[in-house]
Amino acid sequence: MNAAPKTLRHLSELEQAGLTAADKRAALEKVAAQYAVAITPGVATLIDPNDPHDPIARQFVPDPAELDVQPEERADPIGDHAHSPVEGIVHRYPDRVLLKLTHVCAVYCRFCFRREMIGPDATPLTETQIDAALAYIAAHPEIWEVVLTGGDPLVLSARRLKQAVTRLAAIPHVKVIRIHSRIPVADPARITPELVRALRAKGKATYVVLHANHARELTDAAREACARLIDAGIPMLSQSVLLAGVNDNPRALGELMRALVECRIKPYYLHHGDLATGTSHLRTSIEDGQDLMRALRGRLSGLCQPTYVLDIPGGHGKSPIGPNYLSRDASGQIRIEDFNGGSHGYPPAP
Ligand SMILES: *Cc1c(COP(=O)(O)O)cnc(C)c1O
Ligand code: SF4
Repeated sequence: MNAAPKTLRHLSELEQAGLTAADKRAALEKVAAQYAVAITPGVATLIDPNDPHDPIARQFVPDPAELDVQPEERADPIGDHAHSPVEGIVHRYPDRVLLKLTHVCAVYCRFCFRREMIGPDATPLTETQIDAALAYIAAHPEIWEVVLTGGDPLVLSARRLKQAVTRLAAIPHVKVIRIHSRIPVADPARITPELVRALRAKGKATYVVLHANHARELTDAAREACARLIDAGIPMLSQSVLLAGVNDNPRALGELMRALVECRIKPYYLHHGDLATGTSHLRTSIEDGQDLMRALRGRLSGLCQPTYVLDIPGGHGKSPIGPNYLSRDASGQIRIEDFNGGSHGYPPAP
């Protein structure tokens, strides 16, 4: 019997798979000492080791460029700590909280905004901490929605997920349970019927938001995993990160959005790259992001349009930063730009 292929975690394994060069070993040891590395077998097979610009490799294979830290980069780029009343909870907006049950992921993205907090060695919440987090949610009736994130909540067993969802569902004011995950693309076999059932709770809405950044991530197995969730009555949305050399051109971004919609996943957010340490080689400018959004609007179905957002450094939350189609001319009259770039006047309010 062949051993099941396993997740690549060590530099020797990456070298053996042809994903990293031996002469980069010393620099990569430093990268790996700082940031977690994991590439699932499914994701590894998507990488063309002979393509130096492979968009999947760029997302997951460690790069010596990660040692280059810019002065504006931060360990906590979106300011989670400033809004964490108890361990595992981030409460930034009135009506919703993040609940981080685990710091583990199936794959580790090189651009991760929580890269300083996650990894296989980070300590998960203890039972006591989980009790305290749930008590916090129960004590705040304004919390309408709980977003399970991490780490990746779907690395947890179906049993543990069922326990968490059941306890959340028992809180009357919690109406929506949202799960942010990369598992349907990173390890689709984990999305078993049992796990899908564990995410549903009677009388509550469960949503799953998939993190995917390139159309190639939506393999047949990934599409089937998403279909299992959606067919069970769980609507899916997506979030993608705008990444230099991965999806920062109209074709790659458009193909990604179309592939998602074809899977019945509504594109939700396109995140501007956060100021996480050692990620400047993967960031674009906001102007480039706006141009890409214009290109999407000009070419693709409205279903394929995500909202381009920036998580404001320091913990001030997300704001839309997409292109603006409205302006005023010299006489103060409103002008509106169409999807082809044409400009039109619009009458003032009566
Ligand atoms: C991103 C985020 C959310 C979810 O925001 P939505 O705009 O509702 O998707 C909630 N809380 C925190 C702290 C966040 O960073
Ligand atoms: S799956 Fe999410 S939390 Fe995990 S490494 Fe990637 S971006 Fe970070």
